Amino acid sequence: MTEQASRITATCGTCAAECDGWLVQLIRDRRLHWERESSCASCGTTVCDGDRGAAPADVRAALLADHGEYRLTAEGTGPRSGAVPKAFRDAFEVSLAEAGSAANAARGAGWCGTRVEVVLVQRLLDGAGVAASVIEVREPQRRTR
Ligand SMILES: [Zn+2]
Repeated sequence: MTEQASRITATCGTCAAECDGWLVQLIRDRRLHWERESSCASCGTTVCDGDRGAAPADVRAALLADHGEYRLTAEGTGPRSGAVPKAFRDAFEVSLAEAGSAANAARGAGWCGTRVEVVLVQRLLDGAGVAASVIEVREPQRRTR
């Protein structure tokens, strides 16, 4: 299973103490999933949230900062080119328009995302017979908070 996680500091919704948490993005059954969880050491409250599809902006930003950014470039032409927007739509559960613009980026200068995201899209494209390459475009940054 491909997975990335970032440690965060959250505020407990029950007692307002500071608690440790995790933001996670993973691939399960060829679909993207994200999770946000925290557990409070003071009162024991555990919060777990998550869904399928594209991760919320804060989850994505933390993963990009902690693990770096990757760029996927897909083979642009030929009879299988329709597989490119389909891969983005399947991976992220986004609209046709959003999948189309991501596919255009992937067939042009490249589409950037977290490693989990590009690995999933590459895997879906591979399954559809479309060649795609992935490179690291930004090293992980040490976050300041
Ligand atoms: Zn608490």
